[in-house]
Amino acid sequence: MAPLTSSLKTIIRDIPDFPKKGILFKDITPLLKEPKAFHEAIDTMTEWLLPEKPDYILGIESRGFIFSPVLAYKLNAGFIPVRKKGKLPHETEEVAYALEYGEAVLEIHRDAVSAGARVAIVDDLLATGGTALAAAHLVEKLGGKVVSMSFLIELSFLNGREKLTHYPVKSVITY
Ligand code: AMP
Repeated sequence: MAPLTSSLKTIIRDIPDFPKKGILFKDITPLLKEPKAFHEAIDTMTEWLLPEKPDYILGIESRGFIFSPVLAYKLNAGFIPVRKKGKLPHETEEVAYALEYGEAVLEIHRDAVSAGARVAIVDDLLATGGTALAAAHLVEKLGGKVVSMSFLIELSFLNGREKLTHYPVKSVITY
């Protein structure tokens, strides 16, 4: 079988100057609508996460929500949403962070993670690493342990991994 990433890589679509001038946006929708490719992506992440025995899969709004609930289902783990400020209805912890394009605040429900819980963070793309690091800080504020960070895509030239050296980071497709 051909290496997975080579086949999946060709399906990702580049959109120049979206959502801002100078950003080359990686559009994953062509991969999502191709059942074989979507299966391959999910199955790869499932294999990585199985040995970590996560109690929870944490998904980051909004494209992280595409992968995390599927992984939670496959791994018999719970799903925890981390959302942009103002979207979660119950009491929250929050953290401010810098994006590749802009700045934002992320929130998690205060009762989402129990002390000592094993949490796997999942997102569609690792760029500068600020978003994933913010999510990890939220988990740790609540006493949880980040056991993995998994991404569909990694933009390695942005060196996001350098911010995430305390965590095991894996990406299905690397540019
Ligand atoms: P960062 O915090 O810089 O690692 O940015 C990661 C987050 O921003 C992820 O949730 C991505 O969905 C989004 N993102 C950043 N850069 C891109 C890009 N070039 N294409 C698609 N999504 C991106």
